[in-house]
Amino acid sequence: MVGALDFLERARILARNLPEMQSNLNFPWLIYNAYKTMVRRNVNMEKLKDDYFLTNISRRQSAHLQKFPDTKLINLGIGDTTMPIPKSITSSMVERADALSTIEGYSGYGPEQGEKALKDAIANTFYGDLGIKSSEVFISDGSQTDISRLQLLLGSSVSIAVQDPSYPAYVDTGVVVGQTNVFQESEGKYGNIEYMKCFADNDFFPDLSTASRTDIIFFCSPNNPTGSTATREQLAQLVEFSRKNGSIIVYDAAYAAYISDDCPRSIFEIPGAKEVAIEISSFSKFAGFTGVRLGWTVVPSELLYSNGFPVIKDFDRLVCTCSNGTSNISQAGGLACLSPEGLKSIQTIIDFYKENARLIIEIFTSLGFKAYGGKNAPYVWVHFPGKRSWDVFTEILEKAHIVTIPGSGFGPCGQGYIRFSSFARREDIIEASWRLKNLYS
Ligand SMILES: *Cc1c(COP(=O)(O)O)cnc(C)c1O
Repeated sequence: MVGALDFLERARILARNLPEMQSNLNFPWLIYNAYKTMVRRNVNMEKLKDDYFLTNISRRQSAHLQKFPDTKLINLGIGDTTMPIPKSITSSMVERADALSTIEGYSGYGPEQGEKALKDAIANTFYGDLGIKSSEVFISDGSQTDISRLQLLLGSSVSIAVQDPSYPAYVDTGVVVGQTNVFQESEGKYGNIEYMKCFADNDFFPDLSTASRTDIIFFCSPNNPTGSTATREQLAQLVEFSRKNGSIIVYDAAYAAYISDDCPRSIFEIPGAKEVAIEISSFSKFAGFTGVRLGWTVVPSELLYSNGFPVIKDFDRLVCTCSNGTSNISQAGGLACLSPEGLKSIQTIIDFYKENARLIIEIFTSLGFKAYGGKNAPYVWVHFPGKRSWDVFTEILEKAHIVTIPGSGFGPCGQGYIRFSSFARREDIIEASWRLKNLYS
């Protein structure tokens, strides 16, 4: 017999997931009759909060467009690149794709770890003076995949720390592999994760003297969402903290190419980091490859588990088990990015986004707000004191027709902040400035 509670629970889940059924008068009957397998839902998936905030934002965006069909909505929300990829780079991909139609140029599976030419180019371009070997570079279809793969590698028994606020992938994959306890609504946190507070007063760098030891520390610099970048001294503290605690840092350098001052572009610039860090990076924000898909992970051979076993050996094994490599066409594109001409054209685009970020900072500073980031990153993190992020999000959406991201979605410390992305056309940034000036002056 289907108990009443069970029935209600299923009705609730289906109603949420199948809104089109809600208008069907036979809805309760349809649910009652739905065929159920005997498979228990993964308990870790059950722990995952079901209102993923980015989905929530798209829903709000669609609702807004329905309500105001004639307004021009400006999207400074989701961090997706907008500028076209330079021709020299796409030509290489076209050439590689074309060659696949010839007998000489055809190739099937490549090495799971990536093509040697690209691994060499990454090692030379980004880690030339740092002694990272090409064999320590693993190519993937993007960092998001690498984060999940690393979590699978680390397993459910490790403890993790994240910056608060932080990019949601570290936390969510941690929940999925079983590293956490349930979500506590009152705190806005999952149990068994160390949330390292980052706010304006500590320069968005956690106070390591009060942070608890964890096995793994996810650290992103330049940071998404705050746009802040850790200095050499700060990263030296982080490495020292990890060495003292015998922890592993998973360092997300997806925005390294946006750094134009002397902040480190790689964790491996810090002496001693190779024994305690893994670095993930990506062509997504570097070269507008969000749709092409290409990223990499560096696992130094010096990084060892407590029993002395090299992490790189397990990672290599896992990469070969979980994937059959990355698209050869994307890899041809990646190689073209790292040619002198490719690097130069990419820099022009990065500078363009950074000028957008500067304009956003300028607007808010002139309106008397505190705006952070933007200097070495495509994100500006604006504080609205005394307000809640979702309220500000709503206000900016309804009154200025601009989509942003409420800071609270990235963690409890993001409350009161809004993230503005500078991935946009210049005319949209200028139009947004006018609208924001009208709204807040
Ligand atoms: C965009 C982004 C990435 C890149 O993810 P891909 O899967 O390579 O597109 C990684 N880390 C952070 C923090 C990001 O914002």
